[in-house]
Amino acid sequence: MLPNLTPDTALAERLFDELRAATHDGVGITREAYGPGEAKAHAIVGAAAAQLGLEARHDPIGNLVMTLPGSDRAAKRVLLGSHLDSVKTGGNYDGAAGVLAGLAAIAGMKRAGFVPARDVAVVAVRAEEAGSWFPVSYPGSRGALGLLKPEELALRRQDSGRTLAEHMREEGFDPGFVERGGRTFSAEDTAAFLELHIEQGPVLDAEGIAVGIVTGIPGSRRLRKARVIGEYNHSGATPRKYRRDAAIALAELAHRVDERWARLEAMGHALVCTFCVLETTEEAGFTKIAGEARFQLDVRSVNPRSVDALMETLYEIVPEIEARRGVRFELGAETSSRAAPMDAAIQQGLTRAAASLGVSHRAMASGGGHDAAAFVQAGIPAGMLFVRNQNGSHNPNEAMRMEDFRSACAVVTRWAAEMAQ
Ligand SMILES: [Zn+2]
Repeated sequence: MLPNLTPDTALAERLFDELRAATHDGVGITREAYGPGEAKAHAIVGAAAAQLGLEARHDPIGNLVMTLPGSDRAAKRVLLGSHLDSVKTGGNYDGAAGVLAGLAAIAGMKRAGFVPARDVAVVAVRAEEAGSWFPVSYPGSRGALGLLKPEELALRRQDSGRTLAEHMREEGFDPGFVERGGRTFSAEDTAAFLELHIEQGPVLDAEGIAVGIVTGIPGSRRLRKARVIGEYNHSGATPRKYRRDAAIALAELAHRVDERWARLEAMGHALVCTFCVLETTEEAGFTKIAGEARFQLDVRSVNPRSVDALMETLYEIVPEIEARRGVRFELGAETSSRAAPMDAAIQQGLTRAAASLGVSHRAMASGGGHDAAAFVQAGIPAGMLFVRNQNGSHNPNEAMRMEDFRSACAVVTRWAAEMAQ
């Protein structure tokens, strides 16, 4: 029989306030990956963990691990957490909510005198938003899991021009850990990873549901530098049959791919498809037929077959438009990422916990990428719990109701206690 454990959400609320005060940039929240904002956040959370009497330490590349020891220290740990960095002028909850929920859970356990059968730990991962600071994804969690490649340490931060390794060293950490193949967590010592995160999208708020139980993190296929080459000509003097109009060719492609997306969705596929850039070039102008157009395409789904189905359509349509409109597509190299399905048993456990606590919930795919994907890649069963939030994320207006956060913390605590029994 599990004791009735209550997460210490008052502690989490106090820490949200402290984080906001320490990292507000005048407009929003800025906690640069491997920079001063992130360091301040780690200092605040690390000090709170030490005050609670938890074991708190940074691993060699700066991930903060806070542990409530279990009765069997050799048993695989249950791990909770998320990241503490943010995009430039972002919100206070993206990332921090998952770290503070974990801390609230183990603080509640400690307060109740609950000794888990195995360690329950919380990790504050470094640099999850690295993508907006460094051209590398998840260096903190991948570094902790032995998945970061040593050559990625040489990638430079866009604004500072200095490498990831240099930024790590400046913050007092040791990038040599990555070169030596070090690991903070592995499938041999970690039973499960659970990341609570704000939803970042409108679904839960629109449907009046407090939490989302995530089925998976989508994989993607992307065209980052695609072009359509036609011919610049006078818009008045060139009859239709002599035109090689790159803008209209691209418009047709976008329209037909979008229609195909709608048909796939009607057939039950869950995917998203975005022409992130759709433009003519600087040479375009009034009284000219566009001789060149550029686009970026981002297709994502938890199910790789859905992404493939849409991309196949694109590759079928392109030669047909080329032949009919006298243009040439240069699609460029495709980049892709693998989907990360969330562990089925964790999804069931979260569903049980939410149901028994009377917290409204639904299953849903993640829209964005998260550290949990790196844990899946390392063979560690992972789950995610989304919290209803308002105004999206990565912006200063990002919001979350504390009552929803408290409900989600209760689900996390119940699940973690059951896992660590
Ligand atoms: Zn995040």
